[in-house]
Amino acid sequence: MSRSIPPKYVRHTLIRLQSRGYQAYLVGGCVRDILMGRQPNDWDICTSALPHQVMEVFPTARPTGLKHGTVTVYINSRSLEVTTFRSEGSYADHRHPDSVSFVGDLHTDLSRRDFTMNAIALPVDGLIRDPFGGMEDIKNGIVRCVGEPERRFEEDALRMLRALRFAARLGFEIEADTMAAIEKKAPLAAALAAERVRDETEKIMLTAAPDRVFELVRLGLLDAFLFERAEHPAPFAALRRIIKKPMERWVLLALILLEQGAIHSVEKFLSSLRLDSRTVRCGEDTGEILQNELPESPYKWKKLLNSYGVASVSCAVRCHDALHGGKKYNELKAVLKSGECFSVKHLAIGGDELLELGLRGRELGDMLAFLLDYVMEYPENNRREVLLSLAGTSED
Ligand code: ATP
Ligand code: MG
Repeated sequence: MSRSIPPKYVRHTLIRLQSRGYQAYLVGGCVRDILMGRQPNDWDICTSALPHQVMEVFPTARPTGLKHGTVTVYINSRSLEVTTFRSEGSYADHRHPDSVSFVGDLHTDLSRRDFTMNAIALPVDGLIRDPFGGMEDIKNGIVRCVGEPERRFEEDALRMLRALRFAARLGFEIEADTMAAIEKKAPLAAALAAERVRDETEKIMLTAAPDRVFELVRLGLLDAFLFERAEHPAPFAALRRIIKKPMERWVLLALILLEQGAIHSVEKFLSSLRLDSRTVRCGEDTGEILQNELPESPYKWKKLLNSYGVASVSCAVRCHDALHGGKKYNELKAVLKSGECFSVKHLAIGGDELLELGLRGRELGDMLAFLLDYVMEYPENNRREVLLSLAGTSED
């Protein structure tokens, strides 16, 4: 283990557990990432110490997932999760083990983990423990289940989506038996909570290979949210051409699925996956905006911005460019950068000034709309005196 990886507080935790006579290893994603020369997201330790024993060793630790044997250890201002070696009972709901029992050996703990590359343990000194050939699979760029794939996916259907997520993130292929098991067990994904499916799908879409989300569709892992499966992978490549932000990628995914007849409504698709209301609205607006040609003049851009707001118009234009290869987003950016008015809020006069002029109710609303339309066409005239005189009277 090198001196700088893992950081001192992590080494310190491992050493303290060991010095009290417990086994302690780095495990899971952080080991995989170290072996691949990537920066780990977080640090996970597994240990033979029972949760109360971990808390004895680290008196400031908090039991954060006691049911699963997880205790969070705080060192200075840093925290990390320490989990007791465990095995899992049966999985009646294809997601959560019905029971968890603590065990004394590392091998049992590693064997409950999902993929060989995530089932490698690294002690602070001594030999790396890799009973399922994870290092070889990492070297060959392969995602392979620990144990018998069909059974592992029956236990927890989320693992099928995780397999695709790791493949997309790391640029790996899925090993043949693991893939065959996904093909067979994909219907079990229908039992997963929509939020879990959303999170895994989003993580795939935020990798450097977002178009691999097509594999989720092809394999049937999104069937619960689709009218039918999309058949053509090529349109998914557009996901590579749009900004790497969740909202834009979700909306574009929905448009691609709509285009292929895999869904009937962008809005329903996004809300069934429990996307936030802003994303759902943006999806709905984008669908509407792209039913017409995009604007050709600043005036028309401003009309569109006034109707839908900056977020929806930007998202729609980005989707348009990703799908059709245009440069309309540059035009939109120029309009936004000009600072020209496209909303009543930014008119040089307000409703109260029109009230003072004696305008009321509908008349007042109509006047604001008229002035806004005028200013959108003649931005240089967004000046108080001009607008007051247009409103029917001059200041004096
Ligand atoms: P990331 O870098 O995205 O955090 P990770 O491999 O650390 O990837 P986590 O979800 O943080 O993934 O889980 C930590 C470890 O716990 C995994 O590496 C794996 O060993 C184990 N694990 C997580 N989820 C499952 C699961 N559903 N089934 C089996 N083992 C799992
Ligand atoms: Mg992790």
